[in-house]
Amino acid sequence: MLTKTEAIVIKSMKYGDTSKIVSFYTRQFGKLKGIAKGARRSDNKFGSSLDSLSHVALVIYKKEHRDLHLISQCDSIRSFGKIHDSIEKISVGLSILELVDHLAHEEEENPVLFSLLLETLVAVEKSSRNYQSFARSFQLRLASLLGYAPSLNVCSVCGKSLMEVEQSSALGFQLLSGAIICANCSKAATAKRGVGYTTLSVPAHRILQCFLTSGMESIATITYSESIGNELDETLRLYLRYHFDNMKDLKSTQIFKTMIQ
Ligand SMILES: [Zn+2]
Repeated sequence: MLTKTEAIVIKSMKYGDTSKIVSFYTRQFGKLKGIAKGARRSDNKFGSSLDSLSHVALVIYKKEHRDLHLISQCDSIRSFGKIHDSIEKISVGLSILELVDHLAHEEEENPVLFSLLLETLVAVEKSSRNYQSFARSFQLRLASLLGYAPSLNVCSVCGKSLMEVEQSSALGFQLLSGAIICANCSKAATAKRGVGYTTLSVPAHRILQCFLTSGMESIATITYSESIGNELDETLRLYLRYHFDNMKDLKSTQIFKTMIQ
């Protein structure tokens, strides 16, 4: 069946002498792979539309029960040129795509995830600061969309709002349920700690709340220290690893860290 859908290019790989195999996240079919025949010939009809991060209009021959479809046409809608202006922006953009590649299932439709992905890349492109916040917010929102939304507003033990109670020391965070335990209950609940339990500083908890509820375009206005950034990275890494078996360290993030050292 010949079908048309909007897509973001996740990655392209060489195939044979002249072709490419390309992974997309599509609005209509979720994550999907296609072969672009002749895409590496100098006179190919695809141009740069098959490069990672491209937002495209894709036409494919989609066959039932196949995991590789034939790409008939791929036209660029947006190339995110301004993401390519900065190595840090590219690293954030690629880490977002890598995360979708690791966590989204093949051909499972999720138009909300497609919109989140597109909205995040547009926000990264437009932003001039705090790029890592987009990657962190995307990790939390993606986990939520895939069924693992943390409950950040009330203590899971006493039920009190975490905004109302003055928190003097670190909160508890149960990775399994995504539940927060207030500082008071956390002190009393020592026996319940163990695998799947970590702590979260009060400022890091506030930032996570903002990451989940603020509009993506205002994510860069949230400011915090580098040490809180490191704590957020570690908390998100633990949370995603706990819930997703195929979660790996993101190569694009590691490459960027090596480059700036
Ligand atoms: Zn409590």
